[in-house]
Formats: sequence, structure tokens, C-alpha cells
Amino acid sequence: MQKRSFGSNGAKITPISFGAMRIPHQADKATPIIRRAIDMGINYIDTAPFYCDSKSEDLVGEALQDGYREKVYISTKCPVGTKDEYDLDEFLHQSLKRLKTDYIDFYHLWSLNGENYREKVLAPGGFLEKAVKAQEKGFIKNISFSFHGEVEDLIEIIQDGHFTTMLVQYNILNRENEEAIALAREKGLGVAIMGPVAGGRLARPSKVIEKMLPKGVSTSAELALRFVLANSDVSTAVSGMENIEMVEENIATASRPEPLSKEEHEKIKSTTEELKALAELYCTSCGYCMPCPHDVNIPANFQLMNYYRVYDLKDYAREVYQKMEAGEKFVPQGKTAQHCIECGECMDKCPQNIDIIKQLQEVKEALKK
Ligand code: SF4
Ligand code: SF4
Repeated sequence: MQKRSFGSNGAKITPISFGAMRIPHQADKATPIIRRAIDMGINYIDTAPFYCDSKSEDLVGEALQDGYREKVYISTKCPVGTKDEYDLDEFLHQSLKRLKTDYIDFYHLWSLNGENYREKVLAPGGFLEKAVKAQEKGFIKNISFSFHGEVEDLIEIIQDGHFTTMLVQYNILNRENEEAIALAREKGLGVAIMGPVAGGRLARPSKVIEKMLPKGVSTSAELALRFVLANSDVSTAVSGMENIEMVEENIATASRPEPLSKEEHEKIKSTTEELKALAELYCTSCGYCMPCPHDVNIPANFQLMNYYRVYDLKDYAREVYQKMEAGEKFVPQGKTAQHCIECGECMDKCPQNIDIIKQLQEVKEALKK
């Protein structure tokens, strides 16, 4: 794999990185997977205190014994939150202990948005000040951030110039951050991408996505990865790897000198633009219809319907709908279409003039068991 530059500090990184959020929870199973990835050249391992039921850092620390630590950059994170109070020094100390190391190469302020960046990161005595102190003591080599928020706020953070690298979302289905990624590169930040296969969505069967596959690309997951890597502003795609087969497949894809030709890349971009426009004809997720007094998450239900109807991701849409219904974590919060009692409160608020009650009925028919 040809390495790419990762930030202005001169680090070189493999185009695919090991995401340790889906590894088996037992060291005897996780260690061979992580070591196989490193033996095949991967040099960046991304973990976090809460991954794998809070076992990920311990498992990574165990796998990096016997001389493996020196072969990789370690990335881990400190939650910043909005309401909760987290202490960076405490989190850092625990991470160092679990990872069995004296320093973290890329320490992320985790899940920033405009609000917590301004109120908690930049505040006197806040996360940035503490991270800089830890860096001066040698516990952190580089200060990084991950981001889940509005693109304007991401651009502001990049412009402020406090960080060496960033970890953001970008994939075929969500190219919102593309401009910010280009800016980051221009400003000398390393760019790591989370969710290159759109949280697993692009690994699901879809006739619409399959039609986009250029010659020589066999699966939509491979296409998704190649699409991200074809963007030269991206330093690395962090892929959650569960087994050795996945490690080998990912490395084979990332080892290609040209992930996609310029024409293939442009064609995929224009097809996804068309699909997005089609989806937005239905619902733009603007949220003007919210809140629903009965807690129905109207835009989330319609977004699932878009995955079902426009992108042909039927299995995925049904699965997330069931999880929303069960109130599970890591899916949109709020109620499914089943809970609309047709009170009519939302009906005149939609700028798209969507007949929300009728459309929710259709969502229910299509996505319930
Ligand atoms: S009509 Fe349904 S979705 Fe709209 S506000 Fe009433 S319960 Fe909520
Ligand atoms: S107001 Fe209309 S377009 Fe906006 S989220 Fe609600 S249903 Fe979608």
C-alpha cells in the first residue's frame, strides 16, 4: 500500500486504517486479526474508550504487545459531550493504561459540533487547554478531533487551526463534508474518514447501487471504499474490521494504484447527485414539521423510506425501522410511523407540501415486519 501524508507533522499513513470498533471481544480472537492487519502493512489503529462494550482499548493494547506497538500510530478519543462532564486527564490516563503505552499518537476530542467546540473545547481550562498541557508532557503526540455536526461549524474548526488531523464522515451517500475535507487538506490537516461504507448501508444488497459498479468492481462495499480513496484529499479510510477475511479484502482494495478512474469517479458522483435530488423531492429532512407531540421522528421515517425506495436498500431500511421501534441505541431516536395518531399538527408545516399522514402510512406499510 502506498502511504499518504497525514497532517503537517510529516506522518505517513496507509490509505486504509484499522477501526477497532467491531473486533471480537476476546483477546485470543482479536489479537490475530489486529496483528494480521499490521503484518500486511496497516499502520494506524483507531479505537475509543466506549467501543466494543468498553473493551476495545484493552484488546488493542494486548494485541500491540511483542513489538507491535512501535509499528503503528494509535488513535483514541476523549468524549467532550454537551451536557455530561468528562475529564480529559482522567480519560487520557485510563486510555494509556488500557493501551499499555506511554503516549497516544493521535488523541481525538470526540464528537465535536459547533456548540461543544465553542463552549467546552475553547473555554478557559477546557478540553483544548488540557490537551495542549498533556501534549507538552509527552502523553499526546498530536491533537485531533472527530466531528458530527453542521458543515459550517466544521469549516470554522478547520480555519481556527488548533488541530493536526480530523476524523469525519464521508461516503457515496453522504458527501456533505467534501468541501471541508478539501479545505482541511489545503490547511495541512490529515483527513481520516469514518463510515466509508455508510455504517454498513453500502454492504447491503441494492440493485440501484449495483448498477453503479464499474468493470472490475465486484461489490458495493468495495465500490464505496474505492470511492472514498479516489478522493486525493483523504489521507485514510477507517474501516471497522471483524475478521481476517475483511482485513485482506480491504487491503487488496486499498493497494490498487488507482482506486477509480477519473471518469468512473465523476460518473458515480453524478449518479449519486441524481439519487439525492430524487430523495429530496420527497423529504429534505429540514425538520420544520417537528416536534411531533407524539414523538414521531418524521424526517427519520422519511429518510428510511428514501433508502427503501430511492436507493433500494430495503433490508437496511427495514432493519433500522425495527431498531427504532425497539428503542435501540445508534439508530435515530424517536418513534416510528406506527405511532402517528393522525392529530394533524404537522400537516401545514411542510414546505414540500408533503401529505405527512398519508406518507407515514406508506412508511408503516413498507417497513413494519
Ligand atoms: S399527524 Fe402524526 S406525525 Fe403529525 S404531529 Fe400528529 S402524530 Fe405527529
Ligand atoms: S417539513 Fe417536510 S421536508 Fe421537512 S422534514 Fe418534515 S416532511 Fe421532510
